[in-house]
Amino acid sequence: MESKTTDVLVVGAGVAGLVAACTLQSAGHDVIVVDKGRSVGGRLATRRIGGGVADHGAQYFTARSNEFQAQIDRWIKEGLVYLWAMGFSTGSLTGNEANGHPRYAVHGGMNRLAKHLAAGLNVDVDTKIQRVERQGARWLVSAENGERYEANALLLTPPVPQSLALLDAGQIALADEDRHALESITYSPCIAAMFRFTGDVKLPVPGGVQRPAHTIPWIADNQQKGISDERILTLHADPDYSRRYWDAPEVEIVETMQAYLQPYLKSDARLVEAQIKRWRYSFPETLYAKPVLLAAALPVLAFAGDAFGGPRVEGAYLSGLAAGRTILEALS
Ligand SMILES: Cc1cc2nc3c(=O)[nH]c(=O)nc-3n(C[C@H](O)[C@H](O)[C@H](O)COP(=O)(O)OP(=O)(O)OC[C@H]3O[C@@H](n4cnc5c(N)ncnc54)[C@H](O)[C@@H]3O)c2cc1C
Repeated sequence: MESKTTDVLVVGAGVAGLVAACTLQSAGHDVIVVDKGRSVGGRLATRRIGGGVADHGAQYFTARSNEFQAQIDRWIKEGLVYLWAMGFSTGSLTGNEANGHPRYAVHGGMNRLAKHLAAGLNVDVDTKIQRVERQGARWLVSAENGERYEANALLLTPPVPQSLALLDAGQIALADEDRHALESITYSPCIAAMFRFTGDVKLPVPGGVQRPAHTIPWIADNQQKGISDERILTLHADPDYSRRYWDAPEVEIVETMQAYLQPYLKSDARLVEAQIKRWRYSFPETLYAKPVLLAAALPVLAFAGDAFGGPRVEGAYLSGLAAGRTILEALS
């Protein structure tokens, strides 16, 4: 198979990869984005279940920076994003603790935002990269499906341990300082469960329970959230539970997580279906000090993602922007 040639190859079509690719393409570069998933989005993940949908990765986003807030305002104007809530219940069965901090969601589910960013980009999905090699001043990147790419610059946005494995497979030697910084980045796991119900299920308005120090720190009703025609609840387990039950049979996970829903189920509530998603890399536990790492002493190679910009959608967005700008400068 002949290699595809491009100025920049971006591995990972999550928020960071897509934002970087948009930045580079609008500056006139040829960019190809590749992702191992069936669709773009990474942890911006929405699943169809029965006649409804459920967000099972990121649930909403917030803005701490003016740059991301301005982008959110544009997405709201375009009709893509809406203000979901100013706060959630921290345990109360009836009320929420609105704290004046806006939480935004995406009409139709969080994954729509990724699809929006990817429109107009050249994206190869179902393409799992397995090796990165160097050919003089260029990168040669091979995928499991036999696809090969040649690029002047390479941006890696998968969770860092996965990016390092690609370089190790091609025996790319990073500078000691870069390798040390990258190897110190770790992530916590999260088991997500989605439960489809008929009958009455009552989560406090606006459809979310958030309890940071709880085994199940997050419960959301995707119908109350406004993205699903059916009652589908998303639960996230904390890192301790997720580690303990990682290899447990799904039926055991479903049973133990479902027990936490009891207070919210009325007598006619019936479980129709349950699905599990294991996120090995849900949130970075340690962060790199800057929004992008440009590798030393190699052809242009950058690392980006939420481990660089901050452990949430906003961080991935800001890291993607910084990576795009850094690569532009490095190529000029
Ligand atoms: C359960 C959960 C709940 C969350 N809740 C929130 C929330 O409420 N608010 C918030 O702001 N953030 C939340 N987050 C975090 C947020 O989702 C992430 O910070 C953000 O989406 C990360 O984007 P990214 O582009 O850095 O990485 P990712 O979205 O992980 O993108 C990396 C991409 O690389 C691809 N990839 C990996 N290896 C390869 C390979 N070998 N070849 C090709 N492609 C590859 C992956 O398929 C993936 O699409 C949550 C995350 C999880 C998992």
